[in-house]
Amino acid sequence: MRYIRLPRPDPTKLIEEKIALAEELFEVWGPGLKEDPEIAPLLPLYKKAVEASNKAMEEAGTFKECFVCTVEEGKGCCKIGLENECTVLILLLNLLLGVKFPKEREVPGRCFFVGPLGCKILARPMLCRDYFCLRHYKKVPEEVMAHITQVLHEELMLLHQITRLIRHRLESWIGDFLMELDLTGYT
Ligand code: SF4
Ligand code: SF4
Repeated sequence: MRYIRLPRPDPTKLIEEKIALAEELFEVWGPGLKEDPEIAPLLPLYKKAVEASNKAMEEAGTFKECFVCTVEEGKGCCKIGLENECTVLILLLNLLLGVKFPKEREVPGRCFFVGPLGCKILARPMLCRDYFCLRHYKKVPEEVMAHITQVLHEELMLLHQITRLIRHRLESWIGDFLMELDLTGYT
């Protein structure tokens, strides 16, 4: 039996299009979003939550393990295509937090956002934050992994809350249903 293989979208073109749309939305609606009485107070809380998650992972040694896996062993899981886990709303949140996006993929075969010091964006999708391979589970005690998950919960909850609010605001200002801003777009 023959199967028809549908062409998969080019991941680089897709993320470039999503970045362009996020930047366009930021230019027009960024000031309004930054001053929004519900969104504005959540931005510093989200930054603090990301720092708390990073601290928990640093203390548990998962950052170091990922560094060894990626840099010393040349493996790592920030592969090409994964950048598209970022929805337009997550990209827009990064812009609201002052992140500047790279103009091109720096490391061939790797995620668009990988740089020499690791990930270049601040607001990262759930898959990037809450994925720990077997290697971690073998090394890190169960209660420590449970602690990381608990700390991460705050960050991921805020990510969901802020992106949902951004979409609601844009929908009410633009007067359209903007579901595509919430899709990864590469499956
Ligand atoms: S999560 Fe596992 S596979 Fe991915 S970079 Fe870390 S150690 Fe490597
Ligand atoms: S953590 Fe950053 S570099 Fe790694 S896949 Fe996610 S967005 Fe890409």
